[in-house]
Amino acid sequence: MIERTKYLLADEDTPTAWYNLAADLPELAPKRNPGTGADITVDDLLPFVCRDIAEQELSTERYVEIPDEVRQIYTQWRPSPLVRARRLERALDTPARIYYKYEGGSPAGSHKPNTAIPQVYYNKAAGITQLVTETGAGQWGSSLSFAGAYFGVDVRVYMVRASFHQKPYRRLLMETYGATCVPSPSEDTETGRKRLAERAEHPGSLGIATGEAMEIAFHNPHVNYAGGSVLNHVLLHQSVIGQEALAQMALADDYPDVVVGCAGGGSNLGGLTFPFIGEQLRGGRRVRVVAAEPAACPTLTRGRLAFDFGDSGGFSPLFRMHTLGNDFVPPSMHAGGLRYHGMSPLVSSAVEAGLIEPVALRQRACFEAGILFARNEGIVPAPESTHAIRGAIAEALAAKEEGRPRTILFGLSGHGHFDLAAYEQALAGTLEDDIYDAAGVEAALTNLPAQERPALLDA
Ligand SMILES: *Cc1c(COP(=O)(O)O)cnc(C)c1O
Repeated sequence: MIERTKYLLADEDTPTAWYNLAADLPELAPKRNPGTGADITVDDLLPFVCRDIAEQELSTERYVEIPDEVRQIYTQWRPSPLVRARRLERALDTPARIYYKYEGGSPAGSHKPNTAIPQVYYNKAAGITQLVTETGAGQWGSSLSFAGAYFGVDVRVYMVRASFHQKPYRRLLMETYGATCVPSPSEDTETGRKRLAERAEHPGSLGIATGEAMEIAFHNPHVNYAGGSVLNHVLLHQSVIGQEALAQMALADDYPDVVVGCAGGGSNLGGLTFPFIGEQLRGGRRVRVVAAEPAACPTLTRGRLAFDFGDSGGFSPLFRMHTLGNDFVPPSMHAGGLRYHGMSPLVSSAVEAGLIEPVALRQRACFEAGILFARNEGIVPAPESTHAIRGAIAEALAAKEEGRPRTILFGLSGHGHFDLAAYEQALAGTLEDDIYDAAGVEAALTNLPAQERPALLDA
């Protein structure tokens, strides 16, 4: 008899609506207009995004209908598979059942097209001709470039300079889709020129690249900004992952005791886990949720919950989120997608409410877990995703220690086919372990905008 390893849904089972955790959270994190200190409105967001996206950003509706055209495109890679990691279970000799939801089968190789497609769809409908954005490792840039090609919208990507030089293949992927990729900081913007004046070969950061993209959108009415993570509407779009996973766990006649995801800006974590958290908040089964972040950029475990900008240019609203300070330039690491100073305000609220447990993991241990996973499950994970694997393995080993089964579900957010240079170092044993720049965080936190406006702190 064949043991069941994968749980598949039909095209028609692709979700018809996105799920919004904001409807079920006991308390919603406020967003402030940095100029007035008032709660932001749809109008405050219109210089950067189109009306549909602005309304989704502030929505507290539980479900938002997915447009047919978006759902149609989703079916090219959705519903994504849920896989029982039986070989990994055996390798670990654990009584735990381990499942993973695999998002690497999308055209760009990660979960990010789940939001790139609707963002370009709504902007196209609003008459926008160009979208600008930031990218770290290149995952988001290539996803938005792919979506831009589908809808005939021009895409311009500011790529963190360190990654631009380290990862030429992601840039070539963006260019193949027809987009333009610029190393950041650049001479194109005030935000970029200021950083270059401070330091000629500035390595860049996601915060700076975001500031450059937002600055351009701010000054051009036909150009909008598209964000790859952090924002409520991005996590809303990613909820297709968890809604499918709920249905697939039912097919497996199982339910997770713990769900693990890696956390950069929080979008794959939120996408996978929020539908489960929502079930719990509405009286359903309890589930533990673990957010695995990198020890070198430990936003949830070492950051401060405060009002901060999402970018280092000061263009975004003030988000109440865990932050290392928008000026913080995290040390270079292979999981570039996790190298961001802030965190999704929805994830931050869920952590504050005790609904998500954060853990910080080291790069070397994560790659070890990624290699073990590749040798047992065949898929070479993205460096970001190795954090979720490491977190899941820790849960499986704890189950073994206790001699009790538990059901573990983790998000395999993408494949690592463009990250083999990092694997080369891991295999050669030359991968350096993370250093946490405590002094850098301390300095960046003293520049928090909220501290200049003490009235905002007692919200
Ligand atoms: C971008 C990326 C991440 C991190 O972003 P989140 O918004 O935290 O999900 C994780 N995994 C992969 C494969 C990515 O491309």
